[in-house]
Amino acid sequence: MAVYDPLRRLFLRRAALTGAGTVLLLAGCGRGDQQTAGQTGQAAGSAVAEGPRPCDDLTGLTPAQIQVREAFEYVELAEDPALACEVCEFWKEPAAGRYCGGCTLFAGPVNPQGSCNSFSEA
Ligand code: SF4
Repeated sequence: MAVYDPLRRLFLRRAALTGAGTVLLLAGCGRGDQQTAGQTGQAAGSAVAEGPRPCDDLTGLTPAQIQVREAFEYVELAEDPALACEVCEFWKEPAAGRYCGGCTLFAGPVNPQGSCNSFSEA
């Protein structure tokens, strides 16, 4: 015959509620992590979209052309914006609708925010 024990029943109820609370708390933490990861992804995506675009696709260049390019120590982002390609006398404007321009000194795409060791103010 079962004996009614109010203390035992209260203990089990609280244990169940505590367990449910723990599950909800952990689930909430999990959701928080997912949101953080999502926000980070969005932030990274935004940074990429707003940052300088790469002009480093050397497809079609010969090894000799790449060697010349390297000799100029071209970089995608000038340390000093005053020395950027877009204000250099050797800068070639990009084709309509394109971001990357060129340089009259070597072959391949050039970033308007890039620079090299032969910068000369336009
Ligand atoms: S010479 Fe150098 S700085 Fe000038 S446009 Fe060419 S790559 Fe850019």
